[in-house]
Amino acid sequence: MDYQHILETVWRDIQPYARLGQQADYIPALARVNPDQSGICLKTLDGRTCSVGDADVRFSIQSISKVFSLALALHFEGENLWTRMGREPSGTAFNSLVQLEYEHGIPRNPLINAGALVTADILLDHLPGDPEQFYIDFLRTLCGSPDIDYNTEVAASEQSCGYMNAAIANLLKHYGNIHGDLDRVMRLYFMMCSVEMSCRELAQAFIPLANHHQPFCFAGIDLTTSQIKRMNAIMQTCGFYDEAGEFSYLVGLPGKSGVGGGIAAICPMRYTIAVWSPRLNAKGNSILGMKALELFTTLTAESIF
Ligand code: GLU
Repeated sequence: MDYQHILETVWRDIQPYARLGQQADYIPALARVNPDQSGICLKTLDGRTCSVGDADVRFSIQSISKVFSLALALHFEGENLWTRMGREPSGTAFNSLVQLEYEHGIPRNPLINAGALVTADILLDHLPGDPEQFYIDFLRTLCGSPDIDYNTEVAASEQSCGYMNAAIANLLKHYGNIHGDLDRVMRLYFMMCSVEMSCRELAQAFIPLANHHQPFCFAGIDLTTSQIKRMNAIMQTCGFYDEAGEFSYLVGLPGKSGVGGGIAAICPMRYTIAVWSPRLNAKGNSILGMKALELFTTLTAESIF
C-alpha cells in the first residue's frame, strides 16, 4: 500500500474544510495558537513513516494525555481501577457535571475529565516523588523524544479559569473519589494536558497500542496484551467525548482527541496515525482531523471493521 500517496490524496481532498470551525478558546493560551496549521503522520508496524503538512510542529495534546495516564493507572491499579470509575461511553460533553452527580461521583470512563481527575489522584498516590517528572519521562521514552515537555504557560492559563474542572474535582471529593489534595490533583491534571507533542511523536507513542500482541514495557511500566486490548476498547467507545459513535461510524479506529485539535488513532497490528488541526467542531473534535481520518480509512479500506 502506498501510504504516502494516499496521505497526499487525503491532504488535497480535505483542504475545502480547512477554514471550518474554531479553535478552543476557553483556555486563553490555546486561543492564541495559529489555527491555520495542520499535519498528519502515519507509522506502520513494519517501520514506515509517512507524513504531510506540519507533522513536526508540536501542539497541546490536551485530552490525548488521558490515554497515557490511563496506561499508568492500569499498571499501578490493575482491575482495581474500576472500583473508582466506569468504562462506558458518557454520551455527554467531556466536562459534564450532571452525569457525575447522578452517578454519585463515579466517572463514566477514564477519558473524560472526571475520570482523568480520579486518575491523577491515583497517580499521586503511587508516585510520591515527582509525578510530573515521572509522567514526562514516561512520554519521552514512549515517543523517543527526550525534549518533549510541559507548556507551563498553557497549564497556568487553564488553571486560571478552570472553574468547570474545579467543580468536577469538588464533586468527586464530596463523594470520596478523590483522596488527595484537590489543588494538587488539578495541578497534575492541567500539567498532563499541557504536554506538547507533534503528530510524528504521537504516532510513535501510540505504536505499542497498535502492536497489541506484544506486552507493553516502557520506562518500568508494564501492561499485559489483555490490558492493551482493553485500552483500545476504551478508546473506541469513549475517545471522542459525545461523538464516539460518530467517529466509530465515520472512521472505524480506536483513538483519542484533544481540544488542542489533535487526534491519535491506531489500526491494530497495522499502523498508528496522528492528525492535528486546531479548528474544532461543536463537540470539541478537530474538523479536519476527523475528515482526514474518514477519508484515510475509506481509501485504504483499513479500519477495525
Ligand atoms: N484540559 C482540557 C480540559 O480539561 C482538556 C479537554 C480536552 O482536550 O478534551 O478542559
